[in-house]
Amino acid sequence: MGVPAAETIRTVLWAICVDGASNRVAIAGRSGTARSTVASTVEFLIAQGVLVERDVHDGSRGRPARELALGPRSPLAGIVAFTPGATIAAISDLHGIVRSRRVVRNALSIGPETAVDTAALMIDEMIEQQPAQSRVELVVASIGAPVNVRTGSVVRSNNRSGPVSFPSLGWEDFPVASYLSRVLGAPAILENDVHLLTIGDGVGVGRDRLPLVRLHASIGLGAGFLDSDGQLFRGVGGVAGDVAHLVLESSSKHVCWCGKRGCISQTATIHSIGRDLGLPAPAGDQRLPAVLREAVANHDESAVQRIRDAADAVGRLAAVLVDVLNPGRLVLSGELLHLGSDALTRIRTAVFERALPSASRHVDVTVATDDEDGTLPGAARLAADRMLSDPAALRMMRVAGAAI
Ligand SMILES: [Zn+2]
Repeated sequence: MGVPAAETIRTVLWAICVDGASNRVAIAGRSGTARSTVASTVEFLIAQGVLVERDVHDGSRGRPARELALGPRSPLAGIVAFTPGATIAAISDLHGIVRSRRVVRNALSIGPETAVDTAALMIDEMIEQQPAQSRVELVVASIGAPVNVRTGSVVRSNNRSGPVSFPSLGWEDFPVASYLSRVLGAPAILENDVHLLTIGDGVGVGRDRLPLVRLHASIGLGAGFLDSDGQLFRGVGGVAGDVAHLVLESSSKHVCWCGKRGCISQTATIHSIGRDLGLPAPAGDQRLPAVLREAVANHDESAVQRIRDAADAVGRLAAVLVDVLNPGRLVLSGELLHLGSDALTRIRTAVFERALPSASRHVDVTVATDDEDGTLPGAARLAADRMLSDPAALRMMRVAGAAI
């Protein structure tokens, strides 16, 4: 059997995994590829174990339909989420579906090497349980910090040196992606967590809801943008959406750790609320939302007012983003929304009062309730897109297939 061109393999897999074609006729129809080419490519992929074809009985007396699905040797990706309280690892497939997931409770302060080693161990264990795969083809990892996607490392957002102490994660400038790649033997990508949440928002969304903006207000503050084609806008260095250091009207007078005075992060983040109320600082960050919710429940007026100020600041930022990007959907998320009973209302109100009517008229404002696994769907989608598009991955698959 001849080996099909990588581009034809890509076309067939794309038709199945993205366009939802489940048989040869549908693949030919949706991809515009000749039936004979589709047939030979499908046969090749079945022989390699990348696809399987099975009978599907619809209950009638006619011949069963033949349906294609991913086979035991179809490429898999490893996914890692480095979160403040846990390292989460998962395996995903070419459909962008998470197949298995594991979690280890640890803090980011354990450092990147230990966290990556922990993640790699979990991925190795999950791969061992797969029927015929011995490794992942690609790794996508996320962290809640600005990321330089070219170097695959966490970058600092500071723009000048100053006397203000920087809340270091201890991960800055460590080559997370290349270390992951070395440990797992596959190309690796490190992405900002809000970027992956945003890609997850785009899964299955209608074109009338694009462009899409995700604004995440929690311990920190970040945003992500999908363009009119549903593609993440990363900017030239990968830090598009790092909105925490915009200086907006009525921003704080505090000097930010980036060196500027009045950054919105000094008003709108849970971190800044805790500081202003004299509550536990960095080490206690993970407990801060619970402490603040309790203060609100106990009618602590200073806490209630400070949370309102933060919500108003997020609302002003959201209005600016709506004016600048004219999105079809604005997705709000993060623990700030749930600290007080009126935080979400204040943000929504600011959007519609402050953004230009011409920009806000068509925006659909929704709320995402992400859990700890929030970045996994977006990471799985990104991994599938990369595996389906990247000729190198397809070449690897072909080499692996040829060796069977
Ligand atoms: Zn700043």
